[in-house]
Amino acid sequence: MENYMLIALIFWGACGIGSAIAAANKGRNSVGWFFIGFLLGPVGLLVSLIISSDNTQIEFSAIQRGECKKCPDCAETIKFEAIKCKHCGYVFSSQNDSVRAQPKPFPLHYEVWQGNWANAVDLIDQGADVNEKNLDGRTPLELAKMRGDNLIIEMLTSKGALEN
Ligand SMILES: [Zn+2]
Repeated sequence: MENYMLIALIFWGACGIGSAIAAANKGRNSVGWFFIGFLLGPVGLLVSLIISSDNTQIEFSAIQRGECKKCPDCAETIKFEAIKCKHCGYVFSSQNDSVRAQPKPFPLHYEVWQGNWANAVDLIDQGADVNEKNLDGRTPLELAKMRGDNLIIEMLTSKGALEN
């Protein structure tokens, strides 16, 4: 009778360990799932095998281990060695990445030139000088006029941009 108990215990323990391993592979709490497997035996093991993966947790730990990286364009997780994002086609290159990493010398001029009204407003609200001149001696207002961007022209004027 004691042997029978021992075999049952080992069997239930194995179910716990199996559940824990299955859960860990799916990015879930392995300690919690060990107890579920241990208490429910084969039923717990079965449930641990069919639960869905916690993908955000898996992605997070993959990034932590340096196996994956986030695409700067679409924010999907992709393999670290990837040169091209499989989701959006963004091409990783040392040139692209350094352009992104470097702060732009004239951020307000840049946003105005790109026609990014909201970004330009944010920069001014954060204290950017609306009358600053870029390397060509142009103010953001002049750039907006070159583009014929009336929305940004009005916004800059309302924020104190001066006519030359
Ligand atoms: Zn992408």
